[in-house]
Amino acid sequence: MPEKFDVIVVGAGPAGTACAYTCAKEGLKVLLIERGEYPGAKNVMGGILYRKQLEDIIPEFWEEAPLERPIVEQRYWMMDKESMVTMGYKGGEWAEKPYNNFSVLRAKFDQWFAQKAVQQGAVLINETVVKECIVKDGKVIGVRTDRPDGDVYADVVVLADGVNSLLGKQLGFHRELKPQEVALAVMEVMKLPEKTINERFGLEGNQGVSVEIFGDSTNGALGTAWLYTNKDSISIGVGITLSGLIKEKKKPYEQIEYVKNHPMIRPYIEGAESLEYLAHLIPEGGYNSIPKLAGHGVLLVGDAAHLVNGIHREGSNMAMASGKMAAETVILAKQAGDFSENMLDSYRTKIYDSFIGQDLKKYKDATHTFEENPQYFKEYIPLMNKAASKLFSIDGTSKKEKQKEIMKSFTSGRGKLGVVQDLYRAWKVMK
Ligand SMILES: Cc1cc2nc3c(=O)[nH]c(=O)nc-3n(C[C@H](O)[C@H](O)[C@H](O)COP(=O)(O)OP(=O)(O)OC[C@H]3O[C@@H](n4cnc5c(N)ncnc54)[C@H](O)[C@@H]3O)c2cc1C
Repeated sequence: MPEKFDVIVVGAGPAGTACAYTCAKEGLKVLLIERGEYPGAKNVMGGILYRKQLEDIIPEFWEEAPLERPIVEQRYWMMDKESMVTMGYKGGEWAEKPYNNFSVLRAKFDQWFAQKAVQQGAVLINETVVKECIVKDGKVIGVRTDRPDGDVYADVVVLADGVNSLLGKQLGFHRELKPQEVALAVMEVMKLPEKTINERFGLEGNQGVSVEIFGDSTNGALGTAWLYTNKDSISIGVGITLSGLIKEKKKPYEQIEYVKNHPMIRPYIEGAESLEYLAHLIPEGGYNSIPKLAGHGVLLVGDAAHLVNGIHREGSNMAMASGKMAAETVILAKQAGDFSENMLDSYRTKIYDSFIGQDLKKYKDATHTFEENPQYFKEYIPLMNKAASKLFSIDGTSKKEKQKEIMKSFTSGRGKLGVVQDLYRAWKVMK
């Protein structure tokens, strides 16, 4: 190992590896440090991987990456206790190259991705925990690891150490997270034969489906459950904000059992054998929770920078895009021989100008608003279900009468004005 690297990247998740790959490809000396036995060993994701941001790093990656299925259909279920209203989109074009997105298992995917960075020349060391950043005269100059003689130095350190970024906290970049800014997700990977998955979900060949489930899946708390088809397994999980779990007095492991046994979900996983049980935090605070992104000799990327769009279930793509943008900034800094905060701060501008900053800004009040107004998940979803049941039951009541009854059911709880206010509020935070 050289004494000093151009860049040290802490964490070999999608953000760190994207950064390491891009820097190494440009000929920089890169050290990628991962605490897990191998990249992905400790990582958790639903997981849907989006094509575009990885394609920007490795063109045509789908020809070689360990992907489970291309997702051809996205379903949304608004669930009550014994019913659901469904919508979604199935795209024939998504079944063809270059596809839209894919289901993945992170343990396999992260290893592959990190090896791509190694092939570009990055040095990867596993089973190594970075304990702290080494700071001299206000500038980050390296990291202290848990190895004997474990200090390593670099011009820039990129923190890609995930949602709970202890290193970001040590540098004072993060404030303490509030319970509504983070969701606790638990999930299981459940084995099922490929043929059974295809029959149950109405799929052909290697095609996959993603299902997002709202309402009773979280007992009306702010969050969602999901079902994603892998090759010969199903990923099932549920994520709820910590504040929602506290308010509803729910325990995550009880909630996933509830989801698995729900009459609308149970038939899809019947007979499946649990292979893995995982739990992880998701940063859900969005725009208002983004910490300081650049300092003297240091950048924050991915979940460590809280770049997750909880409304659209986008995290891995923002992680990769931010890792790439950080790398581009480091490459420019190297050319200029300037690793000051002033120079590295162009990364912050890049993030805020990109789809990441724009999307997070668009939804900046959404999580908070839905959290403060539980009626959206708790009242309106059951009402939607009752309305659909009424409308689709052929019972001799005239359609006009049914419409009247449905309108009445919506306004009887919150009043006409309350419903209009709720609609306006939802439109305002989602527009
Ligand atoms: C249950 C769940 C479901 C999700 N579903 C989706 C989905 O379907 N689609 C999607 O796009 N996103 C999804 N996300 C979000 C997505 O997983 C994250 O946004 C993404 O993984 C962030 O990547 P990252 O590289 O920033 O962090 P991580 O993937 O968390 O990687 C951080 C890495 O840093 C390592 N590390 C941490 N501290 C240290 C240290 N001190 N020293 C050395 N190594 C360290 C960790 O071991 C880890 O490998 C989901 C998240 C969860 C929890």
